[in-house]
Amino acid sequence: MKLPLDALLGEEGKGFAYMMQELPRERLNIAVIGIYAAEGVLNGTIDYVKERKAFGAPLSQLQNTRFGLAQCKTDIECNKAFLNQCIDRYTRSELDVPTAAMIKLSSTDLQGRVADACLQMHGGYGYMVEYPVSRAFVDARIQRIYGGANEIMKEVIARSLVGR
Ligand SMILES: Cc1cc2nc3c(=O)[nH]c(=O)nc-3n(C[C@H](O)[C@H](O)[C@H](O)COP(=O)(O)OP(=O)(O)OC[C@H]3O[C@@H](n4cnc5c(N)ncnc54)[C@H](O)[C@@H]3O)c2cc1C
Repeated sequence: MKLPLDALLGEEGKGFAYMMQELPRERLNIAVIGIYAAEGVLNGTIDYVKERKAFGAPLSQLQNTRFGLAQCKTDIECNKAFLNQCIDRYTRSELDVPTAAMIKLSSTDLQGRVADACLQMHGGYGYMVEYPVSRAFVDARIQRIYGGANEIMKEVIARSLVGR
């Protein structure tokens, strides 16, 4: 598509460099979505395990369920603490590329673990698309791919530690 010269944003040939400058913000956004989506699916699962009875008692009374919920909650709160630190750095224009990669990696891995654990607690219902946890599981999966795949996040972090 041809555009007039006065439609040029910035300097010619620097489009990729401009896009790269915004990647920490994109990765921070993905992290916010990841952590709060994880919290949402955990809250839905807490309601579910209190209601669903197996062998005469709610699933919430089983130690396996209780430990699973406790682990998810702990993981979410740890990631929130790091996220808040990253948001603080971002608002001061100090969020660097490796740190943004770390929160993207950590939060989206967390989201996947929580969605998987919560789906398991729903048993067979969790696999059915009518249940929100099923959709949450699918939605969690893309978070580790876009915004730069998590393997690329590891490479970015590693470069900041030991170079290329
Ligand atoms: C729903 C959705 C929305 C998207 N939205 C956008 C968007 O808005 N803007 C945008 O620009 N892009 C967008 N993308 C593209 C997305 O960023 C890419 O899919 C992603 O970066 C992975 O690139 P790829 O699909 O080409 O996979 P590939 O690069 O082919 O990677 C395939 C696999 O190989 C691994 N791999 C590749 N290179 C390396 C390496 N050097 N070291 C280790 N492992 C490696 C990857 O981790 C991955 O597991 C979107 C993708 C999807 C699916």
